Amino acid sequence: MIYQNLIIYHNGRFDKAYKIGPNPFSQTLHYGIGVFEGIRAYKTIEGGVSIFKSKEHFERLKQSAAAVNIKIPLQTDELEQIAYRLLIENKLTDAYIRPLIYLGEEMSLYPSAQVNVFMGTWQWGKYLGDKPLRVMISSYERPNPKAYPAQAKITGAYINSSLATFEARQKGFDEALLLDSQGFVAEGAGQNFFYEKNGTLYTPPIGNILPGITRSTIMQLAKDLGMRVKEELFKPEVLENIDGAFFTGTATEVVGIHTIDRYPVKLNWENTLGFVLQQEYQQFVRAESCQTYTII
Ligand code: PMP
Repeated sequence: MIYQNLIIYHNGRFDKAYKIGPNPFSQTLHYGIGVFEGIRAYKTIEGGVSIFKSKEHFERLKQSAAAVNIKIPLQTDELEQIAYRLLIENKLTDAYIRPLIYLGEEMSLYPSAQVNVFMGTWQWGKYLGDKPLRVMISSYERPNPKAYPAQAKITGAYINSSLATFEARQKGFDEALLLDSQGFVAEGAGQNFFYEKNGTLYTPPIGNILPGITRSTIMQLAKDLGMRVKEELFKPEVLENIDGAFFTGTATEVVGIHTIDRYPVKLNWENTLGFVLQQEYQQFVRAESCQTYTII
């Protein structure tokens, strides 16, 4: 078990993960009523460690919790401090950070008032690797946002992503691209999607997608570099004839896409706007302009 010897945070304590057993009556295990975040820390060019967009991630955690009627018993800055302390305890600089808010024992569907706060950190390479991906249009749809809030990272909601991932891998693809319930392209199993056509970048608008923090960073970087970015709905047929495409996400960072179903994108990855943004993103997350924290 690779995670069991890591030092984790759990309800006020820092300890080895194996010492904290799950409660089999946790409501989150049974019904998926819980929320989480995916965050990355980077070693900065100055030699410090910076948790990228730390405030935004912990704020989103709070909003996700509020969306499923959970109140987190800690403030954003307390959560940030826990994350930095975990990096120190585990002697990590470039690392992934996973906060999870899960509920205590309760077998009804009314959310338990017993709220548990877990946070762990470990070294994790790019979630989908570095090579341009073969992507399939999933037979699974993203849920109707009236079924539950699309903008929240709810543990139970990830069954949709898991089914799409399994299907794609079984069929020999690297990743899934899911449509929304109206048939428009939405997002990957755990990433936002962009494509390039005639020098313009397109990405689905907020509504049926998780509003990715990487997505908004990339949109800002693209605009700063003078690229045109349009947020608009589009059908999958559009993707049969495009110049380039890529996924964005905290765990994934920026990764190119080579084919969508049987249609290859026109340009080599190195000649796309996505490639330029991939390089920029790697510099940006390590730049001094990010909030920096030095481990002493
Ligand atoms: N969509 C989904 C469904 C996700 O799980 C993620 C990962 N959090 C993203 C998009 C990308 O979001 P972010 O850039 O904030 O990590």
